[in-house]
Amino acid sequence: MWRSPEPKKSYDIIIIGGGGHGLGTAYYLAKEHKLKNIAVIEKGWLGSGNTGRNTTIIRSNYLWNESVYLYDHALKIWENLSNELNYNVMFSQRGVLNLAHNEHDVKEIKRRMSANRLNGIDSKWINTQEIKKLVPIMNTDNLRYPVLGASYQPRGGVARHDAVAWGFAMRADEMGVDIIQNCEVKNIITKSGKVTGVETDKGIISGEKVGVVASGHSSILAKTAGIKLPLQSRPLQALVSEPIKPVINTVVMSNAVHAYVSQSDKGELVIGAGTDGYNSFTQRGGYDVIEDTVRAIVELYPIFGKMKMLRQWGGIVDICPDASPIISKCEINGLYFNCGWGTGGFKATPGSANVFAYTIANDDPHPINAPFNLNRFVTGKLIDEHGAAAVAH
Ligand SMILES: Cc1cc2nc3c(=O)[nH]c(=O)nc-3n(C[C@H](O)[C@H](O)[C@H](O)COP(=O)(O)OP(=O)(O)OC[C@H]3O[C@@H](n4cnc5c(N)ncnc54)[C@H](O)[C@@H]3O)c2cc1C
Repeated sequence: MWRSPEPKKSYDIIIIGGGGHGLGTAYYLAKEHKLKNIAVIEKGWLGSGNTGRNTTIIRSNYLWNESVYLYDHALKIWENLSNELNYNVMFSQRGVLNLAHNEHDVKEIKRRMSANRLNGIDSKWINTQEIKKLVPIMNTDNLRYPVLGASYQPRGGVARHDAVAWGFAMRADEMGVDIIQNCEVKNIITKSGKVTGVETDKGIISGEKVGVVASGHSSILAKTAGIKLPLQSRPLQALVSEPIKPVINTVVMSNAVHAYVSQSDKGELVIGAGTDGYNSFTQRGGYDVIEDTVRAIVELYPIFGKMKMLRQWGGIVDICPDASPIISKCEINGLYFNCGWGTGGFKATPGSANVFAYTIANDDPHPINAPFNLNRFVTGKLIDEHGAAAVAH
């Protein structure tokens, strides 16, 4: 599906990280900015990070204008991505519900929904009866946290995570991007305030510009260039059940209890859990977190009570203090960061890649990602999306 070249001695642009955001960045650099001599360097296989580990929920119903512009830019690209890549990323706009379980949830969700509508986002409030029509198997009143209503974004949905990485990789490769797997970047090399390349376990590779798109490992790489990123890396877990016939044809998120459910085309329930309460680099996560999630799922959907779970895993998510990403230049010339997506960056993949490519190509941010700069942690102009981030951290 793509070549496996040996790394050249030097590139104009090196992207560290072969997840969706990194591969997408290389694709847009080649396609929209007509740039050549680009490499993506991935320490494992493509999509082996969070791209291939996430529950693929896509939506754009964030609170602040800055976030809506970013996530809806992505959602609009998702709507034509299979055509654009000529590869089926299985984007399915089956709608996303965010449940409210108490008065605080109701107020927070309604506030966000009103803000969304001012920004033209298809977000609406639906009551318990309407939820029951969409998801008849849900238990709404006989449980610890009754379901009082939900926000509903019909344009939201899910996609096939691997296909996103593979689609971008194939098309980037066709335009000459070298995709180098099984090659770990150990150090970012700088000289006189400018990036000059990277040291890898396959030797030193020179680069005029370097984009770091390494999710949970971004702060480790930044440290090699003397930069301290405001990120915490924590495991976030997901699990899937044995396959069953179709029972749920939308995505249901329940932030208060950290239980997210959708059903894959194979019939498996795809269940998202919360983060561990401490920093760690294990791609596994604590057992207590799954126990809590499964307990909540069984209360919300009693018919799942006797199902068997097939697989469980974790990914290392990189969380910013304001639960918003960093898409930014830094004080070292030619070095750029795209990270801090925390528990919710899959939905942003094509939009983030698109504006990050612009930032690298022009050495200047795109208007959409300008607010997501590193300097906001100095000026205090934070974009606090903890309420909309879905997973509390
Ligand atoms: C369990 C779970 C559920 C999630 N659910 C959702 C969801 O439903 N919706 C949503 O929007 N988001 C979700 N997310 C978050 C989402 O997965 C991420 O924000 C997104 O996939 C990040 O993409 P990325 O390309 O930036 O990172 P990644 O896909 O992690 O790619 C980074 C790559 O960098 C590589 N790398 C790291 N260090 C080095 C190095 N030194 N040298 C070379 N390569 C390196 C890694 O191997 C990795 O492949 C979830 C995450 C997890 C873990």
